[in-house]
Amino acid sequence: MSIRADLAQIPLYAPPTLEGLSLDLRDNVNLWGAPPSALASLQSASAALLRDYPRVSASALTSALATQLDIAPAQIVAGCGSDDVLDACIRALATDGATLAHADPSFSMVPTFARLNRVTPIAVPLRADGAMDIDGLLATRAPIIYVCSPNNPTGTATSRAELLRLFDEAPGIVVLDEAYAEFTDAHDLRRAAAERENVLVTRTFSKAWGLAGLRVGYGVGGVDLVAAVTKARGPYKVNAAAEAAATAALTHDEAWMRDVAQQTRIQRDRLAAALRGRVGVSVWASEGNFVFVSLQRSAVELAARFRTRGIGVRAFTGLTGIGDALRIGAARPAETDRVIAALDEVFA
Ligand code: PMP
Repeated sequence: MSIRADLAQIPLYAPPTLEGLSLDLRDNVNLWGAPPSALASLQSASAALLRDYPRVSASALTSALATQLDIAPAQIVAGCGSDDVLDACIRALATDGATLAHADPSFSMVPTFARLNRVTPIAVPLRADGAMDIDGLLATRAPIIYVCSPNNPTGTATSRAELLRLFDEAPGIVVLDEAYAEFTDAHDLRRAAAERENVLVTRTFSKAWGLAGLRVGYGVGGVDLVAAVTKARGPYKVNAAAEAAATAALTHDEAWMRDVAQQTRIQRDRLAAALRGRVGVSVWASEGNFVFVSLQRSAVELAARFRTRGIGVRAFTGLTGIGDALRIGAARPAETDRVIAALDEVFA
């Protein structure tokens, strides 16, 4: 047996399975649930839907998206979550010796996907004020630059103007991850990506759309780049039930999604306000569906105190330039009340 030797150095994504949580705020999913039309679509699924292979590249979904965005279907690639699209994009660009520059901290799977595809990740720390270091990313001259805005885990958004400058000045391809874009007014650069050759903007149905369990995401970009990512991704990655449900949601439940995203922002800001001013806690200006706080104390210990109250939060240790931090997903009003009620004891 000869397994790739370098796999030993690549981390396995294996978050702990926590028993007994009654409020899990670790994964930034949509606590308001799933769009009604997606549920109805799944509940009315026929035997043939399961018996047959799905569309090879989710063309019903990509056509519906293309119509909404007023771009060509050939400018959209869907996948098994935006994870799949990011992975396939890096694979399509993985020329010998290729590098990928990314902010640090940012979405932790990206350097892993790079390594799995034999691309070398280059971490560029966020600036001291927490902003994305666009000049630092450009200075790497990496042929692939990944940026996430609003950024996971910090929640900070980069301005449209700065992102367009990055698109213009990048030496190669820019991948802009807009997984949390529905929660901010900062930018929607899908159409800008479709007008360029060198940009892929990725989106997901896992967050504002409330469909993380279905695993559907997509990328938007120029025709040649999208064709390359489609080839690198492989066939049948969006299953038939997921495609039907996501397409139903997109077609019938945009208002549901917008309303829930708005409510999410209100609860996120309530939670942020309740955390602000606590000793040793810095609340970041999050534009995602979560609050991020950097800490002068142990994140693991604080997360354990939340856990004894049945609440799951994500603890980070040793983040570049930050140290310990917590990321707490936004939840519905009564759930947020519960989190806020726990804060005095947790941070005591
Ligand atoms: N990008 C970012 C920034 C994320 O936080 C996540 C999920 N946590 C993803 C992409 C992947 O999401 P999915 O595969 O569910 O679309």
